[in-house]
Amino acid sequence: MSSILGSLLRAVEQRLPWRRIKADEAVELLHEPDLLGLGRLAAERRRQIVPGPQVTFVVDRNINFTNICTSGCAFCAFFRPPGHPEGYVLSTEEVLEKARETAELGGTGLMLQGGLHPGLGITYYEDLFCSLKSALPLDLHSLSPPEIAYIAGVDGLETREVLRRLQAAGLDSLPGGGAEILVDRVRSRIAPRKVEADGWLRIMREAHELGMRTTATMMFGSVESHADRVEHMLRVRDLQDETAGFRAFIPWSFQPGHTSLEPQVEPATVLDYLRTLAVARLFLDNVTNIQASWVTQGLKIGQVSLHFGANDLGSTMIEENVVAATGLRTRTNTAELVRVIEGAGFVPVQRRNDYTVVRKFDRAT
Ligand code: SF4
Repeated sequence: MSSILGSLLRAVEQRLPWRRIKADEAVELLHEPDLLGLGRLAAERRRQIVPGPQVTFVVDRNINFTNICTSGCAFCAFFRPPGHPEGYVLSTEEVLEKARETAELGGTGLMLQGGLHPGLGITYYEDLFCSLKSALPLDLHSLSPPEIAYIAGVDGLETREVLRRLQAAGLDSLPGGGAEILVDRVRSRIAPRKVEADGWLRIMREAHELGMRTTATMMFGSVESHADRVEHMLRVRDLQDETAGFRAFIPWSFQPGHTSLEPQVEPATVLDYLRTLAVARLFLDNVTNIQASWVTQGLKIGQVSLHFGANDLGSTMIEENVVAATGLRTRTNTAELVRVIEGAGFVPVQRRNDYTVVRKFDRAT
């Protein structure tokens, strides 16, 4: 066990006030040989920040309304360039049909995300969101900072104005997609045409200032170093100190299947995933919810994650196409998530996107 882990565990056991972890200490913890000790510490911090036995999840659907994209990120197996015969754009009626089906299945939210399509301006999104909101009581947790930046470019608008208009059209919250690693040296290798790290953070700050809540993600295990992962988390922590606008942090590991990085990159190991998840819980002392990524790790590791600092198991994903394009299974259902959470010794709670409770699956009640 490293000295930093030992001193943090002693402090927690003696119920001393938590002291903020420095960046170099977090890098050291990412190499921690005592995985179970690290998990014990992260689980204890989870109990301090989110007391109680509940583990939350949401029933929702990812609708990827277009796969046409000009960005061509090296880690993406989903997109097709403009003019490609497999490119598609769903009609409003097709999206509405999927939304109706989601509501019928007990879903409470939609995550609408697509490629950076040069022909789709802000009125497309305003019309789509207005149609959905007037038809169904679903939360719209949709788009991402790169999509906001791209729409702003298509229409010659400021990103703040794009956010304001989409919020008025029904956008409830903004997912943290497109963060990858918030270090431009890494971004220039894996997503050179996407908004830079400062731009991603600026758009999140603007969303928070408009009263919109967001999440932050981190896609790790591509070409970044451990110090880059910590730099990413530091930038999220600094903005959270300023705005308190992030509802959750979701670290997920890059899946190289069918991407142009596949020959160069080995997928992150399970141990690397669990260490990174635990360090996220410890380092991000100002973010309440840490979400396990069962989609990229599988449900069994998702279950283990609940003992490594995660308090949320994401969503059932009635539909998902982006990660699925790498060859992974990305769907489950409420019964399966309930079984997984109970099997880990917790009480499953279905939540809405804003973490309000929909249903508690408590065997005792
Ligand atoms: S990750 Fe998003 S922006 Fe990048 S190529 Fe895929 S669809 Fe386009």
